[in-house]
Formats: sequence, C-alpha cells, structure tokens
Amino acid sequence: MGAEIEINLTLLQENTAQIIDLASKDKIDIWGVTKGVCGDLKVAEAMIDGGVSGLADSRLSNLAQLNYLDIPLLLLRIPMLSEVDKVVKYADISLNSELEVVQALNKAAQESNSIHQVILLVDLGDRREGMLPSDLMETIHKVKQLGNIKLIGLGTNLACFRGVLPTQEKMAELNKLVQEARERFDLKLPIVSGGNSSSLPLLLKDNYSPVSNQFRIGETILLGREVPSGESFANISLDAFKLTAEVIELKEKSTAIEDEVTENAFDQIKEVVDKGIRKRAILAVGRQDIYPQGLTSLTKGITIEGASSDHLIIDVINNSDIKLGSKIEFRLNYAALLQAMTSPYVKKVYRED
Ligand SMILES: *Cc1c(COP(=O)(O)O)cnc(C)c1O
Repeated sequence: MGAEIEINLTLLQENTAQIIDLASKDKIDIWGVTKGVCGDLKVAEAMIDGGVSGLADSRLSNLAQLNYLDIPLLLLRIPMLSEVDKVVKYADISLNSELEVVQALNKAAQESNSIHQVILLVDLGDRREGMLPSDLMETIHKVKQLGNIKLIGLGTNLACFRGVLPTQEKMAELNKLVQEARERFDLKLPIVSGGNSSSLPLLLKDNYSPVSNQFRIGETILLGREVPSGESFANISLDAFKLTAEVIELKEKSTAIEDEVTENAFDQIKEVVDKGIRKRAILAVGRQDIYPQGLTSLTKGITIEGASSDHLIIDVINNSDIKLGSKIEFRLNYAALLQAMTSPYVKKVYRED
C-alpha cells in the first residue's frame, strides 16, 4: 500500500454539529455534501450523527451507496437524460434546470409508481447550472402539470464557476423569484436552496436576513475551510483529514541547472532555482493519488518541489529528523482530498476519538 488518508470521524461530526448550530439561528437546514469523499458511508454517518437534515451528492453511484441510510438524499448534479430511471430510484430530490429532463423524470416516476421531488435552479450569474430567471415562470407552469413530480423549491448555485459570491443582492434576486412563483402559481415552495460553503460567512454577519432555508455544505464540514478564502472558519477543525506518505529515497542532490531540459511528463517546464546542494526526499505518493499543489506539509521544515505520477519530491534540508522510511504528513485542500478519496491506491483509515 502507498499513501494513507486518515479520516477523523469525531471531528467530522463536531464540524457538522457546529455549522448546524450556527445555521439554526437563521432557521437554515444543513444538508451534508459527500461528493468530496466519494459518498463515503462512514463520513456520511458522521454527518448524520452531527445532525444534517439530508445528504447530497453529485453522483448517482454515490447516492446508491448511501441509499439504505434513513435520511433524504438529494442529487446535486443536474441529471442526465439517460439516467432518469436511476435518479428516481436513488434520489428523493434532484436539482434541475432542463424542462425536458424533468418531463423524463416524471415519466420514470410514473413507471415506478413514485413521486419524485424537484428543486428548480436559477442561474444568478455564476454561469454554471441553472435556468435564466426570465425562463423560470414558464418552466414552473409546465412542471406543475406533471403528475409524478412535486416541485418543492427553488435554488441557486454560486461561487462554483465564475466565483460569483452569494451577496445580499443575489439573494434578494432569488427571494423576488420565490415570492413571485409562490403567488402566481399558488405553490408553497417550502425549500429555498441558495447556499454552499461560500454562504457560511454570511451567517456571522450581524444584519444578515436569510433568504435560503437550505444550505448544501461540503468543503467547510470536511476541511474546516472558509470558501473562497481558504482560511479556517469559525471554530471548525482543519484536521479531519490527514495524508501520510513514506520516504523512499533520501539523498543530497545538486539543484543547479547542468543539463538541457524539456517538458516533463505533464507538459510542464519546471522552473529551476539553483539552491546549491539540497537534501531531497522522494515520497511514495504522486498525481495518481493527490493534487500536489493542494498539499500543505504538517511535518516541519519541508518544501514540496513537485510531483510525477507516483513520486512526490520534497526538500527536507530544514528537518534533520527525516529518515528513509519516515512518514510525512500533509493537510489537503479540496482538490487534493477529491483525488485522494477517489484513488484506489490511497488507503482510507478511520479514526474515532
Ligand atoms: C458541490 C456542490 C455543493 C457543495 O459545495 P461546497 O463548497 O463543498 O460546500 C453545493 N451545491 C452544489 C450544486 C454542488 O455541486
């Protein structure tokens, strides 16, 4: 086995509970997003123990894995037309922006004799998924006619593609659409799903008047990081995940540019700085396991120099304790976590304390 990722379930439960506590003052339900950990069952259970109202994932295969848990499941990625049968089977609710897909979901629900719940997404400028506000009322009108679809709310997704932030103005725009839809169609639309981790900082503001009553939270529960700043958020722990990799070579090597260089295996030309003779270590972890730029060393005196598929090269001149066979520890950002949890080569070790 190569690298290991340690998953602290106690910290994950505490992180979840803290966020729920914070959001409860504004009557916002927290749904735990498990896509960053491949729908990991133990992480999902820690989120449930922490008090989430439901679980959400972008992949149906992950939801299928979580299906037997006694909690509502939400499909985050708008469904493929080709998978509507599975959507109604594994997800209680799905986010949608295409009328044709909702109509297909209706047919699939009809065939399986079930009711599928739908939240319609509006694009308020981030330019990832969502219909334009000008198309919303016409779509609602048509969705209302579908016998096996229950329209339970409206939502939006921000800070994902263009990095448009969930400001009060954006939320006021959403609110206006919700009010108009409720009045025009005599609908309850109980769910206003307008937040992900990037919305959490709003909860700390004094004069915050929430529009949403549902936030879908992944990153800040998992990594404790505020989005987009990457700083630690409130009292949420940054230590729920830790990656460990072993030193397989330790040698003094020259960093001078003595040879002709070309692009490496990843089409990059490495900028080389001559720092003289350095003590370098190679770790048994690489791009198949992690996103190298997303690692922060928890072991002192180390600089990450770069990575190939299976090797991470680090400078260890400022840490004389490191030996062949030493285990080096890292914190991960979201991209590195995704990669580590997806890699079959990274051993997942659970900890509860
Ligand atoms: C990934 C995702 C989330 C969760 O985002 P975080 O920043 O991890 O909290 C919420 N909603 C949708 C639609 C997503 O795809």
